[in-house]
Amino acid sequence: MNSKKIIVQKFGGTSVADTDKIKNVARTILREQSFGNDVVVVVSAMGHTTDHLVKMAKEISPNPSGREMDMLLSTGEGISIALLAMAIQEAGGQAVSMNAMQVGIITENIHSKARIVDIKTDRIKRHLDEGKVVVIAGFQGVTPNGEVTTLGRGGSDTSAVALAAALEAARCDIYTDVEGVYTTDPRLVPTASRLDVVSYEEMLELARVGANVLHPRAVETAKMFKVPLRVRSSFKLDNLGTLIVGVEDMELQKPVTGVASDLSQLRIVVCDVPDVPGRAAQIFSKLADANISVDMIIQSYARKLENTNDIAFTIDKSDLDKTLKTLDNMKENIGASRFQVDENIAKVSIVGAGMIDRPGIAASMFDTLAEQNINIKMISTSEIKISCLVDELDADKAVIALHKAFNLNCDEIADVKGTLPDV
Ligand code: ADP
Ligand code: ASP
Ligand code: MG
Repeated sequence: MNSKKIIVQKFGGTSVADTDKIKNVARTILREQSFGNDVVVVVSAMGHTTDHLVKMAKEISPNPSGREMDMLLSTGEGISIALLAMAIQEAGGQAVSMNAMQVGIITENIHSKARIVDIKTDRIKRHLDEGKVVVIAGFQGVTPNGEVTTLGRGGSDTSAVALAAALEAARCDIYTDVEGVYTTDPRLVPTASRLDVVSYEEMLELARVGANVLHPRAVETAKMFKVPLRVRSSFKLDNLGTLIVGVEDMELQKPVTGVASDLSQLRIVVCDVPDVPGRAAQIFSKLADANISVDMIIQSYARKLENTNDIAFTIDKSDLDKTLKTLDNMKENIGASRFQVDENIAKVSIVGAGMIDRPGIAASMFDTLAEQNINIKMISTSEIKISCLVDELDADKAVIALHKAFNLNCDEIADVKGTLPDV
């Protein structure tokens, strides 16, 4: 047993996009180890590998089985771990690569968005005790029956945080291609401001509404297990990036911390549902049984003459086929006349713990969208978030306008290209 601190480092796809970048990551890892720490590394698939794998699958089948999809997608991370372990060895270090089965990253028996339920740490610890860097495949898991699963797109962040929690790591550093968490996507708004700190609560909302710099479940897990989490640049190692902390440790200044948009959803309207008790329960429990997550929901005011109303809700685009099948199966039972699908939508959101008890924030958001002549199709709110559904074509314009209206711009231009550091 050694008493060194364990640091978990996670490197995303752009950080390992080619072999030079992999060599660079190996140096970053050995630098952390040279500070006297044990290092566990989680790595994503190289560059756009996962997208290419998805594309190939779709060329063969429009609706491939979940099991085979997970078998396919999990191969991307398999390439990165082996190459990275070789690069560490070549740079003079000791390393061993492990996939999720070898570690024992146990998930639920659900394909494409499984949740981690347990992580075995014994083999990892044994390798650490031998002085090795342990390089683990992100994004993948295994069910108790030995089936391969994946955690959802962007899920390597969650693998890293869950490992950090299981290993009681001193820190989990998420290395990526921007210098931290910004007030909005710096690729869309180059004058977005980098946040030195952001609360778990705000980061969770931002991640859920489209700020894909962190996977939502990674933030959820970090919050639950109080994992000290940092987002930082793979390319500028001296910059400490953004620290994610408990809201109680923060001084709230502005009402809005960040703006995000999400183009991954679509809207379904179930038309002319009889206005009687139990219909909504029927619809949403069947969707839940089919493992379909529903986000925004609106039920229209009942039409007195026909005694019907419409129920509209949003889901992930990838769940469309499953949802239509589920709805078709219960169409007679619920008495709806038809279903309408609106694919060209975007959800634009503002997030900030500072909006609690501050009236007028929603009105300012609606005013800003109105000034841009943007129509709002649905609205949903939580204590620290307001989301509006708008036309997909208005999404960027809405984010830029809201970012300005809530005073989030800074004078500097964010570096989103990344250059190789001197390690
Ligand atoms: P990785 O491959 O390292 O996991 P991702 O592409 O998943 O990287 O996430 C990093 C990207 O997230 C950035 O390049 C940036 O364009 C995007 N992004 C979206 N919203 C934000 C935000 N609020 N702050 C920082 N980056 C953001
Ligand atoms: N490779 C997976 C993806 O592209 C997981 C990840 O990068 O976090 O979604
Ligand atoms: Mg990512």
